[in-house]
Amino acid sequence: MKWKIMLLLLVLAGALVALAWRLWAREDESLDAARARMVAGQLQGRDITDPRVLAAMGKVPRHRFVPGWLAPLAYADQPLPIGQGQTISQPYIVALMSQWAEVRPGDKVLEVGTGSGYQAAVLAELTDRVFSIELLPELTREAQKTLLELGYGKVRLRTGDGYAGWPEEAPFDAILVTAAAPELPPALVAQLQENGRLVIPLGRAGGLQYLKKLRKVKGQLREEATLPVRFVPLVPGEGK
Ligand code: SAH
Repeated sequence: MKWKIMLLLLVLAGALVALAWRLWAREDESLDAARARMVAGQLQGRDITDPRVLAAMGKVPRHRFVPGWLAPLAYADQPLPIGQGQTISQPYIVALMSQWAEVRPGDKVLEVGTGSGYQAAVLAELTDRVFSIELLPELTREAQKTLLELGYGKVRLRTGDGYAGWPEEAPFDAILVTAAAPELPPALVAQLQENGRLVIPLGRAGGLQYLKKLRKVKGQLREEATLPVRFVPLVPGEGK
């Protein structure tokens, strides 16, 4: 008698595990489908044409970089809060910045404003030399954890003031700044390689901002593209 009850319980437990697995797999599947729709609609449907950027955006699980309760919104056409008053940019902006940065395999890339680590992961799909600076230690810690879990352990993170750049690793082939600065941080300009691309939103906090694609040609910055945007501010730290 006793073993019959045991057997019944075992079967029930098995069924529950199988059901949970099915639900979990379906949620993962629907997130994968949402990511594919995001690439087709929000990126290819606009002006993202670089096949490597499209592939990277199609691969990196953005839902792992947002708070769990926001995972169902991870592939929506909008920025999302990531804690500490900061936000992860809209997928289109991440893709556009990556496309403007023209990252080739082997390029050395600096990101200022690690945040969730999502943009860094997308860059890590384009080159294996990615460096990223974040002002808030809590965000660096969280981003480091996520990047390691997803196999992006090669990305180098540092807590510090992005205004100062990363002089020990300079020069960079591309620098992406993911928070708006009122003017160009001189250290970042100095750490940009000849023919390097600097992608940065310029403008006042809360005011009108323009995302700029700048290229260093014979030591001078040349503007190649621009787009009105809204970013969180680059907070002046000690490096300014
Ligand atoms: N790229 C991020 C989103 C960044 S939001 C992502 O993919 O999730 C902008 C980030 O810049 C915030 O995390 C903010 O804390 C950081 N930040 C602001 N001022 C900074 C500074 N002076 N140096 C480094 N990081 C800064």
